[in-house]
Amino acid sequence: MVEIKTDTSIEAMREAGRVVAQALTAAREAADVGVTLLELDRAARAVLDKAGAGSPFLDYRPSWAPVPFPAVICTSVNDAIVHGIPDDYRLRDGDLVSVDCGSILDGWVGDAAVSFTVGRARPADGRLIATAEEALQAGIAAAVVGNRIGDIAHAVGQVCRSAGYGIPDGFGGHGVGRTMHEDPGVPNEGRPGRGMPLRHGMVLAIEPMLIAGGSDDHYTAHDGWTVRTMDGSRASHAEHTVAITNDGPRILTAL
Ligand code: MG
Ligand code: MG
Repeated sequence: MVEIKTDTSIEAMREAGRVVAQALTAAREAADVGVTLLELDRAARAVLDKAGAGSPFLDYRPSWAPVPFPAVICTSVNDAIVHGIPDDYRLRDGDLVSVDCGSILDGWVGDAAVSFTVGRARPADGRLIATAEEALQAGIAAAVVGNRIGDIAHAVGQVCRSAGYGIPDGFGGHGVGRTMHEDPGVPNEGRPGRGMPLRHGMVLAIEPMLIAGGSDDHYTAHDGWTVRTMDGSRASHAEHTVAITNDGPRILTAL
């Protein structure tokens, strides 16, 4: 069931989203060569704590997960696509890091992700990250009243495919509200004009994930969480929580 949010609820979700943006900024600013992934988690956690926000990631345990998620961010490095667990790995020169973060504020959830490099970036990584951002912006631009879910999916998928990148099947965006994962699902590839009509008050996480090697294949690592590319190539992830309104899409997880 898709929950339509009131304008008042959307304002409250904007505040939850702002905290996510601040936490992602803190994690990104903390990231550098030699810094551990746990330090990024601590930087994000400090922002959530200061805002009085909770984490929808911490202790999250979907049915497929062997253990509850132990952190407030996911840190997915290089060939990791999503759901990486922050640990004592020290970032190296040229690493590509994706950080995904959520918050819960006054009972409302925000969810966003960003990818970046540390140290000297490889040119190919710059292109991959920029294309993920471009796909996200294309998806947001399609998130308008009168369109359908398939229009968002098509817009995202077109940008990824035309650049020659792979799209991991089985992963994508979702409704957001009082919980992190709600209906409807928002695939990263699809047919225009298909799926649920978009209405004022729907709130969606749009989140392209791109695989540099061009294959869609992926596997889950031994930790039961980290999703990695099968071909070992690098991946990039970008995400915003977006409200669909009569005035156009509104990004709730901007600073
Ligand atoms: Mg996320
Ligand atoms: Mg999400």
